[in-house]
Amino acid sequence: MSLLVVGSVAFDGLESPYGKVERALGGAATYFAVAASFFTHVNLVAIVGEDFTAKDAAIFRGRHIDLMGLERAAGKTFFWAGRYSENLNERVTLTTELNVFADFKPRLPEKYRDSKYVFLANIAPDLQRDVLQQVKKRPKIAALDTMNYWIERTNDELRETLRHVDILMINDAETRQLSSEHNLLRAARNIFKMGPSTLVVKRGEYGAMLVDKRGVFCVPAFPLEEPHDPTGAGDSFAGGFMGYLASAGDKTDASLRRAMVYGSVLGSFTVEKFGLDRLRTLKRSEIHARARHFAKLTQFTL
Ligand code: AMP
Repeated sequence: MSLLVVGSVAFDGLESPYGKVERALGGAATYFAVAASFFTHVNLVAIVGEDFTAKDAAIFRGRHIDLMGLERAAGKTFFWAGRYSENLNERVTLTTELNVFADFKPRLPEKYRDSKYVFLANIAPDLQRDVLQQVKKRPKIAALDTMNYWIERTNDELRETLRHVDILMINDAETRQLSSEHNLLRAARNIFKMGPSTLVVKRGEYGAMLVDKRGVFCVPAFPLEEPHDPTGAGDSFAGGFMGYLASAGDKTDASLRRAMVYGSVLGSFTVEKFGLDRLRTLKRSEIHARARHFAKLTQFTL
């Protein structure tokens, strides 16, 4: 079952207490596509500039990722730079340069238009909506991620896009900002009024929480002794989550719970190294071994 994603393919400048990288391949859709491709076929919709080389595109090769929707344009690729605090829990954005994304008009290749699973990764909400509108029938699951940058600058457009999605996947600070509510359960209720019927809150080292009308499910983050760079952990989480759901082909409570675990598994691998370095060498057997480890981690008797 193929999964459609639209979002940023980017170059990132990363600074953490563990080191500094001036320009690494990144972008929400890049992390998402690589993570999801361990579970299902991925169709990627994004734009890159002339500075994006065949060597950069190598991250997608040899995986189940279709690049027909990856447009090349005159100009520079999206650039983002961020710096992490000592404990890696806080991040400040130093630079956001939209570059080729500023004038992007996504056109879905015909074969992408009957997608059943759609992920609107973090990018301008009107681009997310534009892509969703080009999908012929309402997908089985349409999920969306966003961030403070868009919540602050394009709130009306974001709310319009949210009316058409089933799952919102954002972090705790963004949940509070979007809903104007500190308590996450009450925030979920506000968000359900905006359109989505499921909220997935990504909480960094504290794991993730899924809220829907059936109740709440929590998954921990995998305890790591030496996390290096949290960039892309949220997008990798989303890739594991949506990739698993697309491969399962349903949205039962049991599948959603397993999707949360696979999300947390993929996110945990990403933070082990800088940028995409850990995902580059990741093997399916390692994913399944860590999922089994999660089962042990959370098992108890009453
Ligand atoms: P995450 O750490 O999961 O929040 O995602 C980090 C990725 O999001 C980086 O690789 C950035 O290139 C990308 N990113 C940062 N800001 C934006 C933005 N405003 N729009 C789209 N992508 C962004």
